[in-house]
Amino acid sequence: MKKQRIDYGSLKSKIGNVEVTTGAVLESTGSTSKTKTGAWRSLRPLVDDKKCIGCGRCWTYCPEGCVHKKAEKVFQVDYDYCKGCGICANECPVKAITMVMEEK
Ligand code: SF4
Ligand code: SF4
Repeated sequence: MKKQRIDYGSLKSKIGNVEVTTGAVLESTGSTSKTKTGAWRSLRPLVDDKKCIGCGRCWTYCPEGCVHKKAEKVFQVDYDYCKGCGICANECPVKAITMVMEEK
């Protein structure tokens, strides 16, 4: 397999008003993507698109990288990997994310 060189300094992302320079990149997720860590969750974050201002803080702070921008002011959580830590809800400046009990 041919290795590809990545210019990490040029990797920047902007979501809302937040510009992030990538510090490290996993070129391959290996087996990590097969481990659906969302099964551990007891609380589920629900995003209210009507309240969202598109700042990107939930996307920036999620330690699992499982918040995805689907459109302007539309952020979705991938529940296969969300652990329910609540950081996104805590960081949201307009309280658009509510943590609710998971139903089994
Ligand atoms: S609850 Fe935690 S793991 Fe789930 S989306 Fe929010 S920050 Fe990410
Ligand atoms: S932190 Fe809140 S307002 Fe900002 S993008 Fe996420 S849900 Fe929207």
